[in-house]
Amino acid sequence: MLESNVPTKPRTRAKEQQAGELALIERIRERAGGLAAGGLRLGIGDDCAVIRVPRGHEVLVTTDFSLEGRHFRRDWHSPESIGHRTLARGLSDIAAMGGRPLATFLSLALPKSVARDAPWVDSFWDGLLALAREHEVPLAGGDMAGSPLQGDAGFVLADIVVVGAALKGRALRRSGARSGDLLYCTGALGGAAAELKALADQKQRKRLRQATVSGEHPHLFPRPRLAAGRSLLRRKLATACIDLSDGLSTDLAHLCRASGVCAELDAALLPAHPLTAALPPAEQITAMLHGGEDYELLFTARAGTRVPARIAGVAVTRIGRVVTCRKARPLMTIVAEGSRFELKPQGWEHLR
Ligand SMILES: [Mg+2]
Repeated sequence: MLESNVPTKPRTRAKEQQAGELALIERIRERAGGLAAGGLRLGIGDDCAVIRVPRGHEVLVTTDFSLEGRHFRRDWHSPESIGHRTLARGLSDIAAMGGRPLATFLSLALPKSVARDAPWVDSFWDGLLALAREHEVPLAGGDMAGSPLQGDAGFVLADIVVVGAALKGRALRRSGARSGDLLYCTGALGGAAAELKALADQKQRKRLRQATVSGEHPHLFPRPRLAAGRSLLRRKLATACIDLSDGLSTDLAHLCRASGVCAELDAALLPAHPLTAALPPAEQITAMLHGGEDYELLFTARAGTRVPARIAGVAVTRIGRVVTCRKARPLMTIVAEGSRFELKPQGWEHLR
């Protein structure tokens, strides 16, 4: 559980560091305490957490790395944004299965220079715990360690685990799509890629570092679609579902392969996020198709299913259809301006 792993060091320094880390853990425990609720019987402070699984449900577990230099940069992202995004990745996976989160666990490695920066650490937890509070998911434990390279050379490394529950046998999978189904997505596409591009621009970065969760910031503060996912499951609307973490082209390919089907997208139907308007025209479609981290849901439904225009307050748009794979037919195609093109998975590799 929330423990401290102190690397071997000269004794006094190790003791000093341990004392510092224990104080840090105590502070987190205090702050996370108000979240102990729902299915959590025992949280931070024992060897394991104890979670009660609601009757008629089964357990979902997901884990995601958030690595400095790969998923975020400390000179680009505010600590609130880093904390928020760390948890949002895990929650979005629970949303994609139609589940609800029961508890979250965070393993965090901080370079010494960051661990000593109390405002940074507090703001990181502010970002993470605000999202946890919004979705009523308790922080039930984790681990804390000094990042191996100390001083300014070290990296912030965060590994989030989210445990959730879905109705027994009903969790939404990637593998349920059949030929003839229609393809839908929630919300809008390309916003996260557009905002990331703005963040790379030094002039806009200053403004974006002040951004808060209350604004519309698809990259800095994505909204995992938990209520929409649960609604898709409860109302038996979706035959397959995946969250858009790697980009529409890559995640649709995952869904197609898992279901053994092919797909046709219609470029004119794709819901563009308003932020994509700031991109040059050629980059707008690229952001929508390949820009990652929109954290919307991509799902399929039978052609005869009446899918509402909004689910749990989020817009739903039909963007294509599922077809039978035939010899020489590409896995995915896209119709744009009357012509059909092969669509290859080219999801973004973020900051790499
Ligand atoms: Mg996922």
